[in-house]
Amino acid sequence: MIEEMKSDLWPLLTKVKRPVRYTGGEWGGSSFKPEGNGNLVRMCLAFPDVYEVGMSYLGFQILYSLVKTLDYADAERACCPWVDMEREMRASSVPLRSFESGRILRDFDVIGVTLQYELCSTNILTMLDLGRVPLRSRDRGERAPLVIGGGPGALAPGPVEKFFDAFCLGDGEAVLPELLLALAETKGLDRASRLDAISAIPGVYIPGGGPARRRIAEELDEGFIHRTMIVPNANIVHDRAAVQVFRGCTRGCRFCQAGMTDRPFRERGASSVARQIKELLAYTGWEEIGLLSLATCDWRPLGELLDCLRPILASGGIKLSLPSLRMDAFSVELASRLEGIRRGGLTFAPEAGSDRLRRVINKGLDPSDITGALDAAFRHGWDRVKLYYMMGLPTETLRDLDGIIETANEAVRCAKAHKRRGDVSVSLAGFVPKAHTPFQWEAQASREELRERGRSVKSRVRNKKIALSYHEPDQTFLEGVFARGDSSLGEAIEEAWRRGARFDGWTECFDLARWMNVFSDLGIDAESYASRERSLDEALPWDVIDCGVTKEFLARERERAMRAETTDDCRAGGCNACGWNLPAAAGGFCGR
Ligand code: SF4
Repeated sequence: MIEEMKSDLWPLLTKVKRPVRYTGGEWGGSSFKPEGNGNLVRMCLAFPDVYEVGMSYLGFQILYSLVKTLDYADAERACCPWVDMEREMRASSVPLRSFESGRILRDFDVIGVTLQYELCSTNILTMLDLGRVPLRSRDRGERAPLVIGGGPGALAPGPVEKFFDAFCLGDGEAVLPELLLALAETKGLDRASRLDAISAIPGVYIPGGGPARRRIAEELDEGFIHRTMIVPNANIVHDRAAVQVFRGCTRGCRFCQAGMTDRPFRERGASSVARQIKELLAYTGWEEIGLLSLATCDWRPLGELLDCLRPILASGGIKLSLPSLRMDAFSVELASRLEGIRRGGLTFAPEAGSDRLRRVINKGLDPSDITGALDAAFRHGWDRVKLYYMMGLPTETLRDLDGIIETANEAVRCAKAHKRRGDVSVSLAGFVPKAHTPFQWEAQASREELRERGRSVKSRVRNKKIALSYHEPDQTFLEGVFARGDSSLGEAIEEAWRRGARFDGWTECFDLARWMNVFSDLGIDAESYASRERSLDEALPWDVIDCGVTKEFLARERERAMRAETTDDCRAGGCNACGWNLPAAAGGFCGR
């Protein structure tokens, strides 16, 4: 079968950019289980973006390793071909095949699609279509695979639900083995029976079916831990091994969807993480390990891990990195100890320009944290800092935005005091209210407002050391439409795709005019999805999905936001009754 793949895909490789995206054959990523076991469930993990993005996504790598350990299932992979390759494949009638066995997507039992970003929806259709799978679930015959979505997008799946047979809600390690076992036991039965079997599994949502609840892996150290990773043959976005040190976050930033939907807080122990790191380094040969979570500086056993790993980090020249750094002096000092002298820039996310607005979003940073972090960064030898902000946040005024320039100027002054180069880049993104957060009822700022605010902040930059960029509001608008969309947007996704929409998250491919024409032709009022404030008693399309945090808690948090009142992290200030109330015995933080 690999030969067959080579025979049709390989002549196209010389005609496209970055052919290594399509060749597969990586260390850790080329095996597949042979034919012979009649009940083996063959799953293709499909990532609806380019290879470099897909292979950098830890969840994708974890699920791949997990399915490989099951004796009743096998995993293979496919990523979305870039537009040049799609064109060549269509011109030569070459179908989309998995990297491993070269099997066409239509010949798998299950296609598991990672839903990590709203603007990847049209890429899902490209992959299904090139893989010879009917786009809509209702058009799939008995032999077609089940198409199942997972990841953050599965928690508000309305816009894409007509393309899916089911969704997995929550931690894949908790749901996927049971789901694949049910499919192994019903292999050969008709489609309705297979769907029926998986619909009974907690954490599985069938579009149009009843409500479903997100499922979690409770004790992380007791559950599946990945000890292998695929090592790409070319540079990818995050070229390193990665381990997750905790899940969930209780800080309660009100704009953050993951902070609300990944609760409760579940932490791993130092010895288990250290063992995993040693095994991953030995298996992959990488010289860098990312310690991932929503806020790794909050991981209590970090010091213990460093003590445990010191000898191998020193002897192997291994770098540990903390991609999500809190903006305070303690975190910077920690990073300086971890990252040694190989310094690039340091990235911080103050998110909002003023102390008042940071209280509205419950960011939990006061001005002394910010100056302390900047001072520590330049004192420890960094030359560049990058500051991430949002604009268009609820209650924001131009006065709040002034603080962005003041902080950037402060960074330049601070660098000068420490005799560092002090390049400061400021990135401004439009705020998108997300489902399952306290801001899920808010109106999103219009494109005109966002453009105006971005220009206004940029015009006030006076220092050549500061480079400010703001994100394209057109893309932010479309993201906002889909982030809180319902099933009637599925028609628009399909029509926009038929008219050529691809890789909408990439500015070079994005074309809002095409989308607006589609909305207008279908009689869809896109503005009403993004820019309309919802009333608290309005039924929301994602109410059918229970993430664990209650709507009452979200509404309470919204009220506190409007009064600029903060809510303490429940690890420090006591339970805020978010809805989890997990008993200590179940392994979460609550109740301890
Ligand atoms: S139930 Fe209480 S302790 Fe548990 S995560 Fe929610 S707020 Fe924190």
